[in-house]
Amino acid sequence: MKKVAVIPGDGIGPEVIGAALEVLEKAAPKVFDFQSVAMGGNAIDKYGEPLPAESLKICQNAEATLLGAVGGPKWDNQPPELRPERGLLGVRKGLGVFANIRPAKIFTPLASACPLRKDIADKGIDFVIIRELTGGIYFGKHEAFTTPEGERAARDVMEYSEHEIRRIAHVAFKAAMGRRKIVTSIDKANILTVSRLWREVVEDVAKEYPEVSLNHLYVDNASMQLIRVPSEFDVIVTENTFGDILSDEASQIVGSIGMIPSASLGDNNRGLYEPIHGSAPDIAGQDKANPIGTILAGAMMLRYSFGMSKEADKIENAVDEVLNDGLRTGDIYTEGTKLITGSQMRDAIIAKL
Ligand code: NAD
Repeated sequence: MKKVAVIPGDGIGPEVIGAALEVLEKAAPKVFDFQSVAMGGNAIDKYGEPLPAESLKICQNAEATLLGAVGGPKWDNQPPELRPERGLLGVRKGLGVFANIRPAKIFTPLASACPLRKDIADKGIDFVIIRELTGGIYFGKHEAFTTPEGERAARDVMEYSEHEIRRIAHVAFKAAMGRRKIVTSIDKANILTVSRLWREVVEDVAKEYPEVSLNHLYVDNASMQLIRVPSEFDVIVTENTFGDILSDEASQIVGSIGMIPSASLGDNNRGLYEPIHGSAPDIAGQDKANPIGTILAGAMMLRYSFGMSKEADKIENAVDEVLNDGLRTGDIYTEGTKLITGSQMRDAIIAKL
């Protein structure tokens, strides 16, 4: 059996995780040994800390970790080291995940949720953003100081070394090999020295993937092209800060927060898989949460950590089919479609499998 650590978390976390586990078991019966782990607010209540050492150990010993969401108003006034989000950062760090993968795919039945012009959305949107997660300006030296003239000043250092660029480039090219074989590397090489190194290293890695075509865009241009011709993108690879901004832009292009999964990968295909939404305390315990983001995170886990593309396709197709049938949880409901609960959505997807 393949070991998977499962962090249900807080709020709607346990609801959406429960749905994802049932879907995974249906798509790939008796393949996984799921081990539930305390992390977040529930761990603070039970053990006095957001990420008990034992929880992290179980995640580190597993081949993949599936996470719901953590946090909620109950823990909002805790000191920073005792907040649920601290547990989240601890898991990411403890697993050494350096590549964040966020798909941006428009589900045809939900095309009306796309804020772009219809003729643009109709060309189809299906790309992934691969963002470097542990380097760049967020992890460089941060400094506030006073100039010799007595003025307040500050600086944050953007730094990347070659191995950090090389490993994220490999993630991008490998992902492209399983897709339409186009990589767009996004940088600011007309200004930044870091970006010029980035470009050189990405071009070097590209030689190992002759079937994949590589192009480069400056980040300012990329932010325009993403809303002008999103259909032309397949795999985007970029550094931490540019990726942070562009992945939020991409999630808005394709609609509801409840639908989007994400994966963070480290060495040896170990990964952390989660929906992009939070614990939604406003709807927790009411069976209103859309489980699709977490279910698709489960499909990403099959694809990226276990090489089970066939089973991942099955889950993604099942989601497409229930949407085509007009079934909708509240967050994606529009007139003329059928409003159902989170557990009915789970059951409908399982029935398609
Ligand atoms: P949120 O994503 O939890 O909710 C934002 C809005 O989207 C809410 O109206 C919510 O009802 C709705 N929503 C979210 N997921 C949904 C789903 N699956 N189905 C239907 N509707 C859904 O963001 P927030 O309200 O800013 O944060 C709530 C808590 O979650 C906070 O404590 C925050 O720190 C935490 N949070 C955790 C994570 C994580 O665990 N990765 C990420 C973001 C926020």
